[in-house]
Amino acid sequence: MIDYEVIVIGAGVAGIYQIKRLVDLGVKAVVLEGSPDLGGTWYWNRYPGCRFDSESYTYGYSFSRELLDEWHWKEKFSSQPENLRYLNHVADKFDLRRHMQFNSRVDAASYDEAENIWRLTLSDGRTLTSRFVVMTLGLLSMPTLPRLEGMDRFEGPSFHTYNWPHEGVELAGKRVAVIGTGATAIQVIAEIADKVGDLTVFQRRPNWAAPLNNSRISQEEMADIRGRYDEIFATCARTPGGFEHEPDRRGFWEVSREERLKLWDRLYDEPGFGIWLRNFREIFTDEAANAEFSEYIADRIRRRVKDPEVAEKLIPRDHGFGVQRVPLETYYYEAYNRDNVHLVDISETPIVSVTERGLRTTERDYDFDIIVYATGFDAITGAFDHIEIQGVGGEKLGEKWKDGPSTFLGMMISGFPNLLMPAGPQSGSASTNYPRGIETGVNWCTELLKYMWAHGLERAEATRAAEERWTRHVTEMYAMMLMRKAKSWFTGYNSNVAGHEQGRIRYFVYNGGAPKYVNTITKVAQSGYEGIVFGPSDEPGRSGRSEERLAV
Ligand SMILES: Cc1cc2nc3c(=O)[nH]c(=O)nc-3n(C[C@H](O)[C@H](O)[C@H](O)COP(=O)(O)OP(=O)(O)OC[C@H]3O[C@@H](n4cnc5c(N)ncnc54)[C@H](O)[C@@H]3O)c2cc1C
Repeated sequence: MIDYEVIVIGAGVAGIYQIKRLVDLGVKAVVLEGSPDLGGTWYWNRYPGCRFDSESYTYGYSFSRELLDEWHWKEKFSSQPENLRYLNHVADKFDLRRHMQFNSRVDAASYDEAENIWRLTLSDGRTLTSRFVVMTLGLLSMPTLPRLEGMDRFEGPSFHTYNWPHEGVELAGKRVAVIGTGATAIQVIAEIADKVGDLTVFQRRPNWAAPLNNSRISQEEMADIRGRYDEIFATCARTPGGFEHEPDRRGFWEVSREERLKLWDRLYDEPGFGIWLRNFREIFTDEAANAEFSEYIADRIRRRVKDPEVAEKLIPRDHGFGVQRVPLETYYYEAYNRDNVHLVDISETPIVSVTERGLRTTERDYDFDIIVYATGFDAITGAFDHIEIQGVGGEKLGEKWKDGPSTFLGMMISGFPNLLMPAGPQSGSASTNYPRGIETGVNWCTELLKYMWAHGLERAEATRAAEERWTRHVTEMYAMMLMRKAKSWFTGYNSNVAGHEQGRIRYFVYNGGAPKYVNTITKVAQSGYEGIVFGPSDEPGRSGRSEERLAV
């Protein structure tokens, strides 16, 4: 007798929706979550300035009209506390908490071929079994610290932004170091610059960033949004990024430079990712077009930062605008105009160690009260690498993926039957507005399970050929994109993770856009799941299975 028909691992946006779908079907299922509570990304990242760069109302779930009608997003780009409140509201409204177990980290998952079950080992010592495992582990859920000598020597508080203390941090009058200038750092630096005594930013490579242009959403505006939800989600479904932003379909070189500048001036003042996703499509593929636009943004930075030397340091030289996920900011560049904010270029003077009192670079020692590591994530596959996953014949997923993931549709893996990843590596989620991709993935996986239950099937495995086809397709799409040259989590680069140093691209994300992805996975389902081998069917002698899988 197995413990559960389905075990879902991870209670973030994806796990919450996945358990909702399973509970609605009456299936005996549970969510195992390693953290003390639900929310994933929005439970952990409590650093000041943490907020959406997706429009709030395009980020929320679309599956319940009642939920859409009752929730009031207060800001166009909502902040972490509100986002966590939202996810708790969803869980409570649909009574999902009783199907979740917290502080339940899964350390190992191993497929038992003879029994056709998964055995999960938890860090609290329990072992649980299930027919299916749905991994909603998060693609940005494994924070990485730099590998610096003496990190435990520092006498003051130091933490990764993901682990920003839940009780808050007293910043007034403090000397604070922020290491990193990625998306998170850009949010936190801008937010705390006027709250700390002194702020020193340690930058290795700058990122391109553009204004968020956030605003409040009034009752009237929210009423209008509610009236337009169908239209909003239809637009998200039609656009490559799953946002309301539609690319400018005019050819970059077909319009005059004046026309281009007019568009960019407008986009720079618009909210959200418009500057990235409403732009000309050539920005992503054509070096010369990208260079011209990057220079436009560089000029904007020069206009906003008073010290020309600092401005030049903040302009990226090793990649063009938009070839990695663009951080959105609120007065980030202006922070460097403050007397209490200093920029240290650690490509020139690297950090050599952490000392009792602060940081030592090749140039000098710095004293700090607090050190903040805004050093990003072991993205996309990091959370998978932290579970020892064994498939058919004891094959280890970590070994199979050591040079990068290979999947079928980003949701299944050959050699690992009955393991589903609604928002896995190479799925439609990572390069789009996540929840739109997550809902798509969860719905597809749930329909696959329903199909199997309806047909008395107990085992589903992607074929090796189907997996190779999909992975080749994902790989080929990189060839067209300038992003393949960038040191970013889109290409699997992370100098703080062994094996992820630059040199070898990992084909992490699907770049074909949301509509094409949905079209492809829908066709697979309609074909009776071509690329997936099913078996064995529910034999009469094995009756009782259908009762077993139900919760009641
Ligand atoms: C600071 C920040 C801002 C972001 N802003 C946006 C945005 O504006 N728009 C957007 O589209 N996306 C954004 N993202 C991406 C964001 O991760 C997704 O939007 C979304 O929250 C992902 O949900 P998820 O459920 O897939 O993963 P997560 O929210 O990461 O949840 C995964 C859960 O799985 C759990 N877990 C992992 N491994 C195990 C294990 N072995 N055992 C038990 N539990 C485990 C984790 O503890 C976690 O709770 C942002 C990410 C970050 C870090």
